[in-house]
Amino acid sequence: MAVFGGGPKPGAMFEKILIANRGEIALRVQRACREMGIKTVAVHSEADADAKYVMLADESVCIGPAPSKDSYLNIPAIISAAEVTDAQAIHPGYGFLSENADFAERVENSGFVFIGPKPENIRMMGDKVEAKAAMKRLGVPCVPGSEGALPDDPKEIRRIAAAVGYPVIIKAAGGGGGRGMRVVHTEAALVNAVQMTKAEAQSAFGNPMVYLEKFLENPRHIEIQVLADEHKNAIFLWERDCSMQRRHQKIIEEAPAPELKPRLRDKIGERCAEACVKMGYRGAGTFEFLFEKDEFYFIEMNTRVQVEHPVSEMITGVDIVQEQIRVAAGHRLRYRQKDIQLRGHAIECRINAENPTSFVPSPGRITRFHVPGGPGIRVDSHVYADYFVPPHYDSLIGKVIAHGDTREQAFARMRTALSEMVVEGIQTNLPLHQELMNDAAFIRGGTSIHFLEERMARLKKISGDAD
Ligand code: ADP
Repeated sequence: MAVFGGGPKPGAMFEKILIANRGEIALRVQRACREMGIKTVAVHSEADADAKYVMLADESVCIGPAPSKDSYLNIPAIISAAEVTDAQAIHPGYGFLSENADFAERVENSGFVFIGPKPENIRMMGDKVEAKAAMKRLGVPCVPGSEGALPDDPKEIRRIAAAVGYPVIIKAAGGGGGRGMRVVHTEAALVNAVQMTKAEAQSAFGNPMVYLEKFLENPRHIEIQVLADEHKNAIFLWERDCSMQRRHQKIIEEAPAPELKPRLRDKIGERCAEACVKMGYRGAGTFEFLFEKDEFYFIEMNTRVQVEHPVSEMITGVDIVQEQIRVAAGHRLRYRQKDIQLRGHAIECRINAENPTSFVPSPGRITRFHVPGGPGIRVDSHVYADYFVPPHYDSLIGKVIAHGDTREQAFARMRTALSEMVVEGIQTNLPLHQELMNDAAFIRGGTSIHFLEERMARLKKISGDAD
């Protein structure tokens, strides 16, 4: 029975929340709920039946077999689980159904509260052409490019690209996860590239619409964390630098972004918070930007909590997940912008079950597991010794977060933490993190989104030359 339909009840809080996710984020949300005195329902696939967070939850419901499409993406099974357990709200975590506007709508139409933005805001941000147009209207700086979708006429396409200037990038409106993009360096290659990207977009996303942007050659990825409530309050929790990526997958994130001028930080943060108020956004969200030569260029908005949210929590003291829950229950944000201090520096390493050089996933049984500790260290992980990492899902097995008064201290703490961490039985990317934490260019700060791949190519060449 849902008691929160029809708007906020001042002072009320949920009694029971269903967590529609798995892994470390399921445990993270559960911890937030337990601290707030809220009961939790874990839903799980058959492959996750003996996960720690399933046992720690007040109740659990098996929602299907191992493949995600039969369990974590199974909307009717999740809604039924909420019905039989009398949960009042559903937290979607990240990934899976978290940015599925139809799911959010189904949840609300079934009388539950969706812990996230309104379905229309999710839908708008899911279409990149619409999202970009909205951002332009709201005064958020965007990458120069086509006004909306590209037309069919080759002459028109060439005219648009020439006006933007080469190189350009063709992107699918319905794209995501780094797919559906193609860089074009010359006019000769343009029309063919547009046609290929359209065909791929149609088959991958069911939407052939593509648009064009200036291709930025050496940007950093800097994103702004926001929180907003239904009472026209919105704040930003500074920024995160997530430039350390491979194939558009982030592996290390830090906050604040090294060497970012405070004036630029404030200006972009204020823009994002204002945009939230104007579009009636509620909950947590992230504005993702490419950053080059002191300019921010919006690329997309994530309408959910992100993997890397802990670094922002460490430098602000704000519990982002608890704030999501409060706002979903109709409460006002507990913070004003002036309350948000910038306290030191935090860095996060994503620990993946994968080969550290080939990146091939390495599921299986963990035989030994020791987590680091000590001042400024936080480990968000659902795994333990004897845990079996299932092959069906993402390879993230945990996150190590280090906080310090300075960037140097945060890095030093991370190095110590990584040296203490033991994961045996499967392969992990711990050796890669250890190398990166000692890399002179990364330590200096400000490396671009291409840094990791260029570094890997260089090392490969050196080892190839030595053969
Ligand atoms: P997705 O939703 O698939 O993650 P994004 O629009 O966020 O797509 O872009 C993913 C990545 O692609 C960016 O982090 C960046 O590395 C690269 N990229 C996207 N647009 C541009 C651009 N205009 N110039 C250079 N790189 C870009």
